[in-house]
Amino acid sequence: MAWDFSTEPEFEAKLAWMREFVREEVFPLETLDLDHDTFLRGVRPLQEEVKKRGLWAAHLEPELGGQGFGQVKLGLMHEILGQSTLAPFVFGNNAPDSGNAELIALGIKASGREEQRSQWLEPLLEGKLRSAFSMTEPGAGADPTLIKTTAVRDGDEWVINGHKWFTSNGSVADFLVVMCVTNPDVHPYAGCSMILVPTDTPGVNILRDIPTMEHPVEHFGKYGGHSEIIYTDVRVPYENLAGNEGEGFKMAQLRLGPGRIHHCMRWLGQSRRAFDMLCERAVSRYAHGSYLAEKQTIQNWVADSMAEMTAARLLTLYAAWKMDQDGAPAARTEIAMIKFYGASVLYNVIDRAIQVHGSLGFSTDLPLEHMYRAARAARIYDGPDEVHRVTVARQVLKGYKPVDVPTEHVPTRRAAAKEKFASLLEDATANL
Ligand SMILES: Cc1cc2nc3c(=O)[nH]c(=O)nc-3n(C[C@H](O)[C@H](O)[C@H](O)COP(=O)(O)OP(=O)(O)OC[C@H]3O[C@@H](n4cnc5c(N)ncnc54)[C@H](O)[C@@H]3O)c2cc1C
Repeated sequence: MAWDFSTEPEFEAKLAWMREFVREEVFPLETLDLDHDTFLRGVRPLQEEVKKRGLWAAHLEPELGGQGFGQVKLGLMHEILGQSTLAPFVFGNNAPDSGNAELIALGIKASGREEQRSQWLEPLLEGKLRSAFSMTEPGAGADPTLIKTTAVRDGDEWVINGHKWFTSNGSVADFLVVMCVTNPDVHPYAGCSMILVPTDTPGVNILRDIPTMEHPVEHFGKYGGHSEIIYTDVRVPYENLAGNEGEGFKMAQLRLGPGRIHHCMRWLGQSRRAFDMLCERAVSRYAHGSYLAEKQTIQNWVADSMAEMTAARLLTLYAAWKMDQDGAPAARTEIAMIKFYGASVLYNVIDRAIQVHGSLGFSTDLPLEHMYRAARAARIYDGPDEVHRVTVARQVLKGYKPVDVPTEHVPTRRAAAKEKFASLLEDATANL
């Protein structure tokens, strides 16, 4: 089977334009420390330019204004966007709004609840509404089957009770996509549903934005915060169900597959930016009689980083290609592999880039320390490394059967070979 990650020259031209645009128009904005709302107002002309080029919200299906590019092309685009945390906003595919828009679109397709298009989906795509995804609970993270938040039907309404945390952007969102148990009598994979909850509904109590390694000081209501939320007798109309009852996990899986490919390609964009800083410093800094680039340890970092990034890139493009060929379920093992491998490459390359810069790397005069703190979370969100390793190992081990004697046991193989080639050996020794 031939693997083909190539794209046509017209698309390559789009990528070349994106590279230049992100470097020239978006990178400089990073240094201005604008608050999020000022930033969003300021980048409208850039967003218009992106729309004119047909690259706005490209992850969506064509009927929603996307381009139907497929995962390989989207992956290559995300590699460019990932270089700057601001670029996804300029291109209309910032998390978690992009993933939530996909979820709502999937839900409309499955349930036929068309009114959700004008109520939630279109304003979300136009940036008039902001959203958050509320699934993780203090007692249910890596194993989401432990979710305890319930939604009980009462006439035409859902009544939601539960405790969530790490709902990214919860405190600035207009609505929350909440994963709830709607049927406790079946396995959670068939008993959970997603429900759209306006943030100002009585009973939605956003306790705090949890201080983290990335944002150690809590600023409630700031973009990028991770909210802890108590839902107490929260009533929303039955029609706020996204998709069908019991399909919460199915929808989450459909959303997470492509999302992980985009994460990994964005991480490669970040890795490359850190790598460029590493190499630039190596050829510029003189210490102990030579440039750092001439010292073997630094050369090892350059070589190892390049090899790891190339491996992660090919692995990710392969997962994207497989998803394009055979669908997300067929690419499950590959997606799990890139999630933990890509996160480790990102972390390693940034770490080396900090080290080669010494005190400057540790300082906020370079973006590396912030990139490093953000990179640490990549090994946890969207499923921690260990869980993805379990997925890969389980799939791989399905191809093996237990044996009493190892298949490669040399004495056993020798005895079998003697038997197999008995006449040949007899002839060979007889002619001596
Ligand atoms: C920056 C950030 C943003 C997030 N945004 C959101 C969001 O918007 N919405 C949302 O719902 N959630 C969000 N999360 C939560 C995220 O999805 C969870 O952190 C993740 O699923 C892991 O759950 P947990 O933190 O509860 O870890 P736990 O479930 O407590 O797991 C802890 C550790 O146990 C180990 N472990 C778990 N299972 C296994 C296993 N099977 N084998 C071996 N080891 C295992 C792993 O080392 C794991 O790191 C976010 C998290 C972060 C850090």
